Amino acid sequence: MNRFIAVIGRALLAFGVLICSAHADPLDAKLDQFLQLTNQQPAQASALIQSLEAQLTADTPALTRARLWSYLGGDYRDRQDFAKAQHYVDLSLELAEQVQSEDIRAEALTDQLSLYRAQDQPGKARALVSQLQETLASANLERIRYYAANTLGNFLQAEDQYEQALQAYYQAFHAVENSKDPRTAVRKIYLQGAIAGLNTVLAQYQKADELLQAAITQAEEQAALNFLLPDLYLQLGVNFASQPKNAEAEQANQQGLKWARKLNNPYSVATLLNNLGDLRLKQGQYAEAVPLFVEAKQLAEQQKYTAMTLTAEFNLGYIKVLQGNYAEGLTQMAAMVAKARELQMADTELLSYVGELADAYGTAKAYADEARLLREYNALSQNIFKTDRDQEISALQEAFSAKEKAKQIESLQQQNQLKSAEIAQTQLQQRVMFLFGLVVLLATTLLYLLYRKVRNANQQLRHANDQLAYNSLHDPLTGLLNRRSLHEFMQKRTEQGERRQLPTATTDGFILLDIDYFKHINDHHGHAAGDVVLIEVGRRLKQLTRQGDMVLRWGGEEFLIVLRNLNQTALTNFTNRALQVIGSEPVIYQNVSIQVTASAGFLTLPFAGVDEHQLNWEKALKLADMALYMGKVHGRNRGYGLVALHRPYEELRAQLETDLSMPIEQGHLEITLVLGPPQA
Ligand code: GH3
Ligand code: MG
Ligand code: MG
Repeated sequence: MNRFIAVIGRALLAFGVLICSAHADPLDAKLDQFLQLTNQQPAQASALIQSLEAQLTADTPALTRARLWSYLGGDYRDRQDFAKAQHYVDLSLELAEQVQSEDIRAEALTDQLSLYRAQDQPGKARALVSQLQETLASANLERIRYYAANTLGNFLQAEDQYEQALQAYYQAFHAVENSKDPRTAVRKIYLQGAIAGLNTVLAQYQKADELLQAAITQAEEQAALNFLLPDLYLQLGVNFASQPKNAEAEQANQQGLKWARKLNNPYSVATLLNNLGDLRLKQGQYAEAVPLFVEAKQLAEQQKYTAMTLTAEFNLGYIKVLQGNYAEGLTQMAAMVAKARELQMADTELLSYVGELADAYGTAKAYADEARLLREYNALSQNIFKTDRDQEISALQEAFSAKEKAKQIESLQQQNQLKSAEIAQTQLQQRVMFLFGLVVLLATTLLYLLYRKVRNANQQLRHANDQLAYNSLHDPLTGLLNRRSLHEFMQKRTEQGERRQLPTATTDGFILLDIDYFKHINDHHGHAAGDVVLIEVGRRLKQLTRQGDMVLRWGGEEFLIVLRNLNQTALTNFTNRALQVIGSEPVIYQNVSIQVTASAGFLTLPFAGVDEHQLNWEKALKLADMALYMGKVHGRNRGYGLVALHRPYEELRAQLETDLSMPIEQGHLEITLVLGPPQA
């Protein structure tokens, strides 16, 4: 595995310090001088800062005092004297408390973070981040804000917290944005480098390449900036290796190595050696990789670069595995992973070790171990995702979930409203349907009732009319047709006759009957008995007739029978039957037998071939009445029929209207006699 992040961080710390200077005290000028020296002549710089501590007086301003301690601590840190370095950090923190200065606190905390990183204690460094961020926000001095933001951004980038890292870089940028410092261009180069690093991590290789090439060009042009070149080339190498462009990466690393050796920068030399070895390793050139890792390891051990020593050792173990020396190689690699864990390395860095160890187990066909390491790898990945991403988004997440919950509640409420609206709608629809149904039902019922009422009314009306019609044509006592009905009948008959040809018109028979001595029946048996006799006689006559014939109650105890379409003989026979049916059986009224007879007069119409215009039905009935009278006169219970005229009607008309006996005696009127049943 290669090394990258830690190197950049270290280089930039120095860079950050370099460009910041403030002049509040004569000591500050010397501190500025120290900064100039750190990059080009580190040994002299170290000597200078050590000498400056003695110049501190009671009048030295707190900020200048803290600044001195910060540089002194940094010097001890760079020389791996971490206890001394920590001592100066503690002094500064105490001073910050005393004078209540956020600037001093920010500077001291930044130093503390750098110290933890230098000691490969990223866990402790991580724990400082939020405190440093808060303090940084309250700091005022450009120098300190820039220094703290750069250091923080660099660490956050190493921790794969790219968003926060970028934010920190921008903070650093804003701190020096309006600075009149002649080194502003240099600061921009630094920011280019930092942003390029982020682009590499985010696989924006082209962008990173552009930024780095520009920065390298500038750094090569000015001798004062040469010190940046090893790291810029290192970064460029990593950018190429990531694509991967191995040849270009090799070239960039060699350039960087050249500059690092020239500048006597052991950290960069070791890092670049390691990265060159890694390039060889990746290309399967194990033999060529070994001397590079060995040299890197020696240098790292010599300089006490713990993490880098670990990496080189690990890589050498990996080569052993790849070359078939499994047992030794794997043991070596596993030991390094254990150490990395001990050092509380960042999960991202640990992840690389674990991943490569898993690969190595795979190569050695130690599949159980490979699986175990892969599980660990997954756990770490998840952990990284959790710590990094969760930290970044937890606040957002909270705000979001609060909003989300509010939205959910709102949506639920809306759903509820919708539901109730739907229910209301459904209920309304049901109600409307119900009402509609009800209206239809009511309307139908009303309509039916109305219809029934109308129908009933019509029925009643019809009934009433029928009744009226019936009553107008019938006799209420006997139920027989009345006198009026004959008028109607005869009118129709005339109309029918006129439609037909008269010669072929039907001959109808008229029989007029009158009960004999009816007054006597009334007197003797009572009026009611008389009524019964009338009813019974009517019934008996009705029984004799056929459909189309008519039986009428012509007067008090008089009856008229009209027989359709019959000749004289048939008429005579019928009259005979009529007298028989009246006289042969007595009428029983309250157990009393009442003997009844009747007298009749009868004739046909037209009579004796005489045109009905000359001898109409009224005149014919008059003749029948005269014939009936003859029956009364000649002993009753008998009927006289007028049969024929032996003289033209006009000749006999006057006689016929007054008295029948004369034309009968003269032989002009032929009659026939029908006798009723003999009486006891
Ligand atoms: P004749 O043999 O000559 O016909 O004698 P008659 O008694 O039948 O003759 P008349 O015509 O003088 O008498 C008819 C009687 O019939 C007179 C009247 O009181 C009675 N009469 C008429 N209409 C009714 C009726 O509806 N019911 C009853 N019970 N008697 C009636
Ligand atoms: Mg009478
Ligand atoms: Mg009578």
